[in-house]
Amino acid sequence: EPALIWFRQDLRLADNPALAAVQDRPVLPVYVIEDGPWSPGAASRWWLHHSLVSLGQALAGLGTPLFVCRGDARRIIPDLAASIGATEVHAGGQTEPAARDRDAETQTALQAAGARLILHRSALMHDPTRVRTAAGKPFSVYTPFSRAAAMGFDVLPPPIPAPRRLIGAAAAPTGLRPGQFGLLPRPDWAGEFADWWTPGEAGAMARLDSFLEDGLADYAQGRDQPAMEDGTSRLSPHLHFGEVSPATFWHATQGRRGTGRDIFRKELLWREFSHHLLWHRPEMPERALRPAFDAFPWRSDAAMLRAWQRGRTGIPIVDAGMRQLWRIGWMHNRVRMITASFLIKHLLQPWQDGEAWFWDTLVDADLGNNAASWQWVAGCGADAAPFFRIFNPVLQGQKFDAGGAYVRRWCPELAGLPDRFIHRPHEAPADVLREAGIAIGRDYPAPVVDLAEGRSRALAAFAAVKGAD
Ligand code: FAD
Repeated sequence: EPALIWFRQDLRLADNPALAAVQDRPVLPVYVIEDGPWSPGAASRWWLHHSLVSLGQALAGLGTPLFVCRGDARRIIPDLAASIGATEVHAGGQTEPAARDRDAETQTALQAAGARLILHRSALMHDPTRVRTAAGKPFSVYTPFSRAAAMGFDVLPPPIPAPRRLIGAAAAPTGLRPGQFGLLPRPDWAGEFADWWTPGEAGAMARLDSFLEDGLADYAQGRDQPAMEDGTSRLSPHLHFGEVSPATFWHATQGRRGTGRDIFRKELLWREFSHHLLWHRPEMPERALRPAFDAFPWRSDAAMLRAWQRGRTGIPIVDAGMRQLWRIGWMHNRVRMITASFLIKHLLQPWQDGEAWFWDTLVDADLGNNAASWQWVAGCGADAAPFFRIFNPVLQGQKFDAGGAYVRRWCPELAGLPDRFIHRPHEAPADVLREAGIAIGRDYPAPVVDLAEGRSRALAAFAAVKGAD
């Protein structure tokens, strides 16, 4: 009996339980490009385009083309199932609230027609409905969550190999051609992305192999050095789109020893935790998990927000990070923390504004990870850094980019500054600036906020909500 496989955030053939469930039957593989709350931002759409092309080629190689269409999946999926006589639709489960609602409504429509949607766990290693505290509640603190969740991971079944061949369903309709997906940015500002990224399963596996070879052993140190290209895995967009399963990572690091591996696994567990939170607190992308923060005295200011977005704050490590994000659709984790803290605390802009900008510009924009991370930095999340811990971006730069290589790479106008002023050009004496060929205000902005004043202003604002919940 024919079946539908509905790809969403599992754009891969290997270790894909939904695909494994249908591989011996005539199958129609489908992807629906949808609009709606938190539909992919501009950078993610670029990624999605290329990932769909890659998946389409891989499926065609196995004997069945990918049917891509645009519209409302709640209507399209039941129609397609009926058109090929399928009573089963297989897909990978998602944690995003809009996706869960859409699945529930699609299920109702399918059932009315005598069919059903069968969801498989392919994006996460743990099941958010099953991992519980001793009191039977969802977790809200990372460490006990990670212990409870990881207990199940050492017995994860080995990854399922990709099918060798698929049987196409008879009467399969023809979908959009890549030129009709409507996902690529116009004008094409994503030109540099292709130098950095290879979306698709083959690209994901190549990245994983090269990280295991060159990055994992030194990950404990490398992950805190933004200038180091192989310091972290850069697998986040591949994981977000499900081009590689998290269980494949877990298994790939099984035989390894060392702190690099252990810390890397902890990061994967942060991802599981963020999605656990999103599942149980679907309001997380919009609302502070600590309600007291609803009354936080933000100072929304379009000019400040824009200076931050464009990498024109006058604080080099912040500007370098924001420009890296704009240019390649990704920013190093350490710098994500510094730029987010600066926006929220020194500039007192609502964390949701930063979250929205990251959503639009990151190729790895991920609702669970992005919302949980912004709330964590803001101090309003479930298991958050305390608000009063305010990063000094100059000191952070000096600590994690000591030689200034990262700043010089992304803010080349500062390249001539000596190391001791690379993170604080505004404090450099006139002769140093002259020698480096820089005039503050002309070649590089003066800081948009005095760091000491910004810090005390943030603490005063925080006092307004402190202890309120
Ligand atoms: P690695 O260090 O190689 O880590 C491996 C994997 O673990 C990552 O690919 C990612 O899937 C996961 N991971 C690592 N750190 C975290 C974390 N703190 N929380 C959850 N998962 C993590 N990550 C996203 O995937 N999407 C986002 O939209 C996103 N937004 C963020 C916003 C802010 C303000 C901050 C501070 C962090 C955000 N992160 C987000 C988390 C983290 O910065 C990225 O996952 C990481 O930088 C990706 O690079 P990598 O693959 O080289 O990471």
